[in-house]
Amino acid sequence: MPKGYKHTAETKKLISQKVKRAVREGKIFTEEYRKKMSELKKGHPTSEETKRKISLANKGKKRTAEQNRASSERMKGSIPWNKGKKCPWAKPPHYWGEKHPMWKGDDASPEAMHHWVIKRKGTPSKCEHCGRTDKKRYEWANIDHKYRRRLEDYIRLCTSCHRKYDIENNNYISGLNKINN
Ligand SMILES: [Zn+2]
Repeated sequence: MPKGYKHTAETKKLISQKVKRAVREGKIFTEEYRKKMSELKKGHPTSEETKRKISLANKGKKRTAEQNRASSERMKGSIPWNKGKKCPWAKPPHYWGEKHPMWKGDDASPEAMHHWVIKRKGTPSKCEHCGRTDKKRYEWANIDHKYRRRLEDYIRLCTSCHRKYDIENNNYISGLNKINN
């Protein structure tokens, strides 16, 4: 289209009808369409003048309910930005525990059991061995190192007491420790 060319009202109407039909038929606003558009845009940045015009044209325009509905229709089937990203809050709380598809009963790893305890008893903030509350980190220590799913089997310890406890009891190095090193 040559610069300065103006569509007639009739052409504009035709184009808008075409676009609307294409949207309805899912021909545009697809992944492929967007890729094509962004390819085309490369090397042809929107000029300041055009940007100003667009912003002026959009000023004061309120999206109608119909437009919002159409927009959300378009979004259906497109891939959400957070797809595949790990998000611990994505699942509602009732999904935790026994109902979870990954539920492993008593066979969970020590690390998984630590998370399980934290979820139910909270993050510890006091050491039951040295009694200190000013340490940076506290952990739930498993008393018999069997990592059973029993909340009473876990005591709060500061990291240094935890290491000591683990080593003194069966010379055990905790699963968490192994992962961190
Ligand atoms: Zn301690």
